[in-house]
Amino acid sequence: MNESKLRIVAVHQELLGTYGDIGNAAILVHRARARGVSAEIVLARSDAPLPSSGDIYLFGGGEDSAQIASVTSLRVYGGELSLTTALSNGAALLAICAGLQILGEYFPGSGGERVEGLNLLPLHTISGKRRLVGELGTRSDRFSVSLTGFENHRGCTVLDEDAEALGEVFLGIGNGDEARHVDGIIFGKTIGTYMHGPALARNPELADHLLVSVLGVLAPYEDLPATALATERRRVANALASR
Ligand code: GLN
Repeated sequence: MNESKLRIVAVHQELLGTYGDIGNAAILVHRARARGVSAEIVLARSDAPLPSSGDIYLFGGGEDSAQIASVTSLRVYGGELSLTTALSNGAALLAICAGLQILGEYFPGSGGERVEGLNLLPLHTISGKRRLVGELGTRSDRFSVSLTGFENHRGCTVLDEDAEALGEVFLGIGNGDEARHVDGIIFGKTIGTYMHGPALARNPELADHLLVSVLGVLAPYEDLPATALATERRRVANALASR
């Protein structure tokens, strides 16, 4: 980790901030500080190179044209190298929806054309038949609780055969791969998902998972309003799934 402060890099908020994704950065800062770890948000704009000295990188969701502008900027400013350097130095990364698609091999543009991604994750995204909108719930052995969010995408993401999904879907669609009813990916210290929310507001355990991956063991911390929100969303997801 960076010597003094945990640096949380919010990538291209002006393009990939459509769903309040900056909330994920705020939650990481809050939960780090609650453990006595000083933390700051670094806003990485699309008209400048991406810093390679971050500890946690956050990629949010966005519309087709915005996500193409984002990947174009990353390519122009050597973002792939910045991210590769950061990840090999131990950084963690959270990629939501458009962010997830950008980091794969390719994804569909607004006219369905193939747009090259950064190829940092073992997946690719193709255009689905319809837009997938609604509550999304997943479970996995990695988390003691289910994860919930709201999905809104047309792209369908196919993981490479041996890639691990973030979770099995019990509500909603997730990646939209007909062969595997799963959401997202977990790849080293990178987590990808179709869960908007902001995802870390709805899933404090996911926020702590990212923090632990860069800080090691964390002191216990119970944020009662956060727990209440996560519990209520899980209750609703379970109820919707059993209808
Ligand atoms: N534009 C992408 C899609 O529709 C991502 C959407 C999003 O980030 N919500 O699949």
